[in-house]
Amino acid sequence: MPSGRATYAALAICAALAAPATASAAATDKSSAGGVVFVETPRIGKVVCVKRCAAGKRVQGGSLVRLSGRSLGDVSAAVFHGSDGDADDVRTTRVRSLGTRRARARVPKKAVSGPISLVTAAEVSSPPSQPLAILPPLPGDVLAGADHVFPVRGKFRFGGSAGRFGAGRGGRSHHGHDVFARCGTPMVAARGGSVQMEGYHGLAGYYLVIDGEDTATDYVYMHLAERSPFRRGDSVATGQRIGSVGDTGNASGCHLHFELWSGPGYYEGGRPFDPFPALRSWARADAARRAARS
Ligand SMILES: [Zn+2]
Repeated sequence: MPSGRATYAALAICAALAAPATASAAATDKSSAGGVVFVETPRIGKVVCVKRCAAGKRVQGGSLVRLSGRSLGDVSAAVFHGSDGDADDVRTTRVRSLGTRRARARVPKKAVSGPISLVTAAEVSSPPSQPLAILPPLPGDVLAGADHVFPVRGKFRFGGSAGRFGAGRGGRSHHGHDVFARCGTPMVAARGGSVQMEGYHGLAGYYLVIDGEDTATDYVYMHLAERSPFRRGDSVATGQRIGSVGDTGNASGCHLHFELWSGPGYYEGGRPFDPFPALRSWARADAARRAARS
């Protein structure tokens, strides 16, 4: 009989590894070797970003992560599971064992947030890890290389006169242009750059300010459905997803409230200017790109 203390210690280890209750070993039939070889199932505990991380050690495509766990001696591949279903699964062999308790892996560019499994050379897979938050992947070929793109990626309509720049807002003036779309419609950076501010404000809701790359202009996005995964100081690519259309803060109806600010920038001495001509021209350019591809 194990002592109570030993049992407690064993339970604590299981909890620390966050491993679901599955068999601890998998049998692999190596008939050529004339018998059954037991290959221990690898298990993943913690995952930590060590190189090419975003601010705050967060993980993005291309980051190097260190995984700790057990039975990691033979791992040679990793599967980034993303969300439920295998449509967004990404497998990589850029994995290296650093002994039985540690391994490292390069996060594939297309990997999205979700659990990871490590796989041994004999194709024994670990149970999925705790979900790993990964910043949104860089845009694919549709948007790659564009100078600017339209920030709402789905069906939209421009707001009427009340949604225009300069419309009255109870003694204040509307500093942006409203673009209406269903809540949850993907929202991308019209122009890449570095995140200057983000967070929550009573009027703006979840918002994000991007200091546009190679421009003096700041790009402002408000009423996001939830907080953007990007933080102050992060780099964002043009067309990279920054969030979803929502109605947080003081918003009636799901929409993006979009502002453009002249240099030196948003509440840094710049001034807001009418973003409607730019929005309209980006929407036209996107439609032309789509037509050219079909
Ligand atoms: Zn607005």
